[in-house]
Amino acid sequence: DPAQTATILPPGLTYDDVLLLPAYSDLQPGEADTSTRLSRSLTLRIPLISSAMDTVTEARMAVAMARQGGVGVLHRNLPAEEQAQQVDLVKRSEAGMITHPVTCSPDETLADVEELCAHYRISGVPVTDADGVLVGIVTNRDMRFEEDRRRAVREVMTPMPLVTAPVGVSRDDAFRLLRSHKVEKLPLVDERGRLRGLITVKDFTKSEQYPLATKDADGRLVVGAAVGVGPDAEKRAQGLIDAGADFIVVDVAHGHSRGVVDMVAKLKANGQADVIAGNIATRAGAQALIDAGADAVKVGVGPGSICTTRVVAGVGAPQVTAIYEAAKACRPAGVPLIGDGGLQYSGDIAKAIVAGADTVMLGSLLAGVEESPGDLIFINGKQFKTYRGMGSLGAMRGQSYSKDRYSQADVAVEEQLVPEGIEGQVPYRGPLRAVSHQLVGGLHQSMWYAGARTIAELRDRGQLMQITAAGLKESHPHDIQMTVEAPNYHGRR
Ligand code: 5GP
Repeated sequence: DPAQTATILPPGLTYDDVLLLPAYSDLQPGEADTSTRLSRSLTLRIPLISSAMDTVTEARMAVAMARQGGVGVLHRNLPAEEQAQQVDLVKRSEAGMITHPVTCSPDETLADVEELCAHYRISGVPVTDADGVLVGIVTNRDMRFEEDRRRAVREVMTPMPLVTAPVGVSRDDAFRLLRSHKVEKLPLVDERGRLRGLITVKDFTKSEQYPLATKDADGRLVVGAAVGVGPDAEKRAQGLIDAGADFIVVDVAHGHSRGVVDMVAKLKANGQADVIAGNIATRAGAQALIDAGADAVKVGVGPGSICTTRVVAGVGAPQVTAIYEAAKACRPAGVPLIGDGGLQYSGDIAKAIVAGADTVMLGSLLAGVEESPGDLIFINGKQFKTYRGMGSLGAMRGQSYSKDRYSQADVAVEEQLVPEGIEGQVPYRGPLRAVSHQLVGGLHQSMWYAGARTIAELRDRGQLMQITAAGLKESHPHDIQMTVEAPNYHGRR
């Protein structure tokens, strides 16, 4: 048709445009199983991932997310070595056995040890000599009553003989030893007395405290880390994998691009960790990443609460339709789909899953928790935390490592940057545990209404209905002045 000049597709939908229909149900909300696939080889007990953003996920958040049964992706707006250190912090945080315990030498000072303990948030360290042989242990107990911080460890430590166990000791035997000797740390040694591992009582209480925790084969918490594209990113990825990262996220605003496809193929050829890639918002975009070998595909161009891509570039696709379209490529290939950005309420999680997602990635819903980076800000007596887009001026200016997320790595002059995000603050929400409880609780209710026992059932059987502006108005509280905010409802934005 010579009169046709362009293609205009039918309207796309987002979370506020749809509702999940109720269906016959014979389960209680508590019976719903929220286990799901994060990537080809990793699973989660709850379908939540914290965003790779410098105001959302550093080690502390990643630890908290994994303990709740989700996972965190460490942001990449920092030097590669520091990001690898964050991976290391998470991998050491809670374990069946710590394979490379933090140690000190007998010649270090108490001040040195205190610094070490504060950094790793631990209460004491084994003391080893130059050959790695265990010579003692120094803990809070040894240090508490010492006034002189310059004293050497050898003078205050509890020296050998200590209660130890051989490498390979069973979990039960280890627990028995800890209990019968009333000690908190059990160093594992080889036949020559060299330190080979450490089991702590804290790790036993933690596994009772966090039964859903996302763990690797060695009982350590699972963590992912973001990288960009290009030779530096390859080096960064290798450092992250060496530090123990379970998966790498190739994190670029436009994932349907040569740089991302090449990077995925390179990382997959190396083959040491799962590779997640994004972001895309079309079926073709998802297919390109699947063909490159991605172990999961991340969907979302412009839905983020801090994101201005859709106005600055005029580009994107409403998130429910984007997920629905991408799932057409992901489902047949058996590749999990992550719905990234744009969620405002717990109800949006089930909507994303029914549209075709296996998990969702959250920024603004998690930026306000205790464990996110950054300090509390007080404004008129109310508490807030900073939240900013990785494409905001603040995140891209100066020594920024994330400019290349928006293909602006070589822009040196601040005035020449074209931001695709904004900076702001979100209300302080208390510990992650409470926020996650509300989000997952909301999902359990969704599954009860939909009659779905599992995430797979929810996705296969769930039905979304498109609604109108009047329907959305009816959905939110109306004809009333809200006087008390619910823990899971903050009004319309
Ligand atoms: P939220 O959960 O706040 O709605 O969205 C978080 C997601 O927005 C992140 O996971 C990331 O994919 C995306 N994002 C983060 N910063 C920016 C930005 O500055 N610009 C754009 N376009 N997207 C961003």
